[in-house]
Amino acid sequence: MPENHMLTQVTLEAEGPFVLRKDLAQHVSEAEVRAALASGDLGFLHSFTTGSTVDGPGVRLVAWTTGCMFRCLYCHNPDTWYMKNGIPVTIERATEELRKYRYGLKVMSGGFTISGGEPLLQHRFVLKLFKAARSMGIHTALDTNGYFGDRLTDEDLEAVNLVLLDIKTWDPERHQHLTGMDNATILEFARRLASLKRSVFLRFVLVPGLTDDVEDIGRIAAFMASLGNVEQVDVLPFHQMGRYKWKNLGIPYALENVEPPSAELIERTCAQFRSVGLKAY
Ligand code: SF4
Repeated sequence: MPENHMLTQVTLEAEGPFVLRKDLAQHVSEAEVRAALASGDLGFLHSFTTGSTVDGPGVRLVAWTTGCMFRCLYCHNPDTWYMKNGIPVTIERATEELRKYRYGLKVMSGGFTISGGEPLLQHRFVLKLFKAARSMGIHTALDTNGYFGDRLTDEDLEAVNLVLLDIKTWDPERHQHLTGMDNATILEFARRLASLKRSVFLRFVLVPGLTDDVEDIGRIAAFMASLGNVEQVDVLPFHQMGRYKWKNLGIPYALENVEPPSAELIERTCAQFRSVGLKAY
């Protein structure tokens, strides 16, 4: 698809993922979307953001994809659920964007992270971008809910230096309630990453009343510790920065009155992960 077919008034760069973006690819036909997914030559991105220190080691450039198969009750970025809310971006344009930062990322011991949404909905585009990053010597990290982990072959995974694996909850019924989907394939992906000895950071969003069950966290911790390849646990406190997006998009929001976790609850959760030998922050 020619670049002039795309909206130009919205910049690819954003101040952060909490900027609301919607309907930016409404002009792209379903056939063009299917062709993009099949080739990986075109992707749909919420934005590129710079300077992140929480999406992998060092200072990161982050590409936020649109499209997600989950509907997490606590999602901070529901505008990224739909691919067509994002900007259609050719692989050439995305690679150029990445190239601008290649020296800075190395100086800051950082790298390039692809997050979402769920990046593996667009796994061919994501893989091309990671391969481009690796050819520039840039460290790569994939932030994924893991549901489509089997879309990446063992060889594909060699282009990914680090997987930031989001485990939402252990109990399958709670997982279904929380995300709308099953968690069996996610745990399977975690086991596969371990068998391949791939580096993993566990990402765990802590939501009071929803993901703070002591026993559930204990089971996630025991499982992840047993794998032997989890280098770090990032406990991510729930916040309300995305609340306005739910309102703006007209999606009923069940967590309207939920407060962020207390310092005590965050510390208790980190302590649970540490008690099985994991580094948790
Ligand atoms: S997996 Fe991430 S982007 Fe998808 S609904 Fe859940 S929190 Fe939102």
